[in-house]
Amino acid sequence: MTAQNHGRSNPLRIPKVPHAIFALVLLVGVAPSALFGQGQSTAKPRPRVIVIGVNGMEMDVIRPLILQGKMPNLAGVIKKGTYGKLRTVSAPNCPRVYSTLFTSTRPEEHGVSGFVVGGITANTNMLKEEPIWSMLSKNKITVGMANVPATFPVLPVNGYMISGMLTRGKNCEDGVLCAPKLSEVQGGEAVYPPDLKAELIKNVGDFYIDCERMPSAEQLKDHEPEVIDAWLKKVDVIRAQQTQLFDYLLNMHPTDFTWLAQSCEDRTGHWLYPIAPYNAGYNPKINAIRTDAFPNEYVGFDGVLGSILKHVDDKTYVFIVSDHGIKPLREFEQTDPHAHMDHEKTTPVIAKHDFADGDDVPGSFFAMGPGIKQGLRLMGLDASVYDLAPTILHLYGIDPAKQMRGRVLSEIFENSDGKVAQK
Ligand SMILES: [Zn+2]
Repeated sequence: MTAQNHGRSNPLRIPKVPHAIFALVLLVGVAPSALFGQGQSTAKPRPRVIVIGVNGMEMDVIRPLILQGKMPNLAGVIKKGTYGKLRTVSAPNCPRVYSTLFTSTRPEEHGVSGFVVGGITANTNMLKEEPIWSMLSKNKITVGMANVPATFPVLPVNGYMISGMLTRGKNCEDGVLCAPKLSEVQGGEAVYPPDLKAELIKNVGDFYIDCERMPSAEQLKDHEPEVIDAWLKKVDVIRAQQTQLFDYLLNMHPTDFTWLAQSCEDRTGHWLYPIAPYNAGYNPKINAIRTDAFPNEYVGFDGVLGSILKHVDDKTYVFIVSDHGIKPLREFEQTDPHAHMDHEKTTPVIAKHDFADGDDVPGSFFAMGPGIKQGLRLMGLDASVYDLAPTILHLYGIDPAKQMRGRVLSEIFENSDGKVAQK
C-alpha cells in the first residue's frame, strides 16, 4: 500500500486536534534542568538504551557486505549479540510500521495506516495509542529521539525530539516524501523543546531532516547518469549531516533512552536496487549505471553506526531495527500500472516491500547489551515489530500496557525464566 498524491492544490492540512491525552500530562513536575538527562538523582542507575532505526534494511544485500568485511561495525554487533528477521505488519510502509513500533498496536488501532490517512499526510496528531516515548517519559526516563519517521509534528517528551521522515516543509506535497531543511519546516514543530532548534542550527547547521526525494521519470529522461550521481551526492550530504547531528546529541544531550533513525537506505533501494536484466522493470539507462549504489548505502550506514557506537559502553543496550526489508519487483506486477511507480507515482521503482501476493517483506533486528545472548540467530520469524516496545519497557522495569499486542523478547536474554530459545 503506497501513498497517493491527493492533489497539489491542497495546503498543509494537519488538523488542529488538541494533542492526544497521552501527549502530555507527563512533563508536569519535570524541571527544565532535567529535560536533558541531568539533574535526576535516583539511587539505582537506569539502563541506557539506544535504538537505531534503519528504514527498509534488507538482509539479502547486507549479508554479502558483511562477508566482504564492508560492514565491520554491524558485524561486531552481530558477534556480540542476537540478530534475526523481524516480522512486520501486512502491506508494510514506514509510517504504518513505525507507529506499530511506537505503540505495539495494529495499524487500524493506532490510526497511522499509511503515508496518507483520510486524505491527510500522516502525522502524530493521528496517533490514537500511547507511544513508548510517552510511557518512558511518565516514568521519569529521559528520552531523546532524532530523525525517527512519523514523529512530526513533535510531541513533548522528557528530553528532546527532532522529527524525521514525513516532516512537512518547503516544496513538500501531500503524502509525498521530501527533504526540508530544519529552517524550511512548515505546518508544525520539528524540534522539542523549541529552544533546541536554534542550538542545533548553531552547532550542527541547517541540516536536512529527511532523505532526498526520488527523482521523477521526467527528470531522469536523457540525463540518467548525471541525475543519479547528483542524487547520490545529496544523499551523502544528508547522511554526513545526520551523523554529525547524532554525535552532537549523544555528546551534549545524553538520555537514558535514545532513538535515532536513517531513511536513505530504503529510498535508494526503491529505484537503484541492483537488479538483473531479467527482473521486472529493468531499464538499462538507470539500472546498469550504479549497481553499487544500494549496497553503498549500507556501507554508509555502517559508518554512522560506528560513530554511534563510540558512545556505547558495555552497559548500554543497542537495538538496530528495520520496519521491513525491500525486494525486487515480482513478475506478476508488470501488469500493474502503479507497481513501477513510487509514493508519488512519478518515479520508476524497481523494488518494494508491499507485494500484492501478500508476502510482507520482514525487517531485521539486532540487539546487544548486558545479559543479551551472544552469537544467537533468531529463527522462525517469532520476533515481530510489535515486540520492540514491550522489550524496551521491560528493560526499565515497566509492565507493557494492556493494549500492547507484542511480547517481551525473553529468548534474547541470558536469564529469561526458562523461556530460552535454542542456541
Ligand atoms: Zn519504502
